[in-house]
Amino acid sequence: MGSAKIRIMVGKAWVEVDAVSAKDAIKAISPYYEVFGERQCGQCGSDDIGVNHRNTKGYDYYALKCYAFGAQLDFGQHQEGETLFPKRKLPSGEWDSAKRGWYKWQDRKPSEGGEGF
Ligand SMILES: [Zn+2]
Repeated sequence: MGSAKIRIMVGKAWVEVDAVSAKDAIKAISPYYEVFGERQCGQCGSDDIGVNHRNTKGYDYYALKCYAFGAQLDFGQHQEGETLFPKRKLPSGEWDSAKRGWYKWQDRKPSEGGEGF
């Protein structure tokens, strides 16, 4: 079996991977869905969302931001590899079924980083 170039739209992003099989393609593409597959802000429903990175005191933080409403969705970083996952839990530890992890700064501090911003 040869290799294939898979080009697929994930949310607003074009993702291109080289894969040797369908399994391989799914493995390569699915991490991008965790980030770029988010289509709407969970607070206001706007699709005017974008990626956001900041570095504070040597730590990297990754998030999505809603430009309509100022809400954000933080990503956690897997222990191994370079992949991210959306943090969809409330500070209480329960799944945020209403807002899917999106929050406003006024309502909640980021789950990492603490004070000093
Ligand atoms: Zn929003």
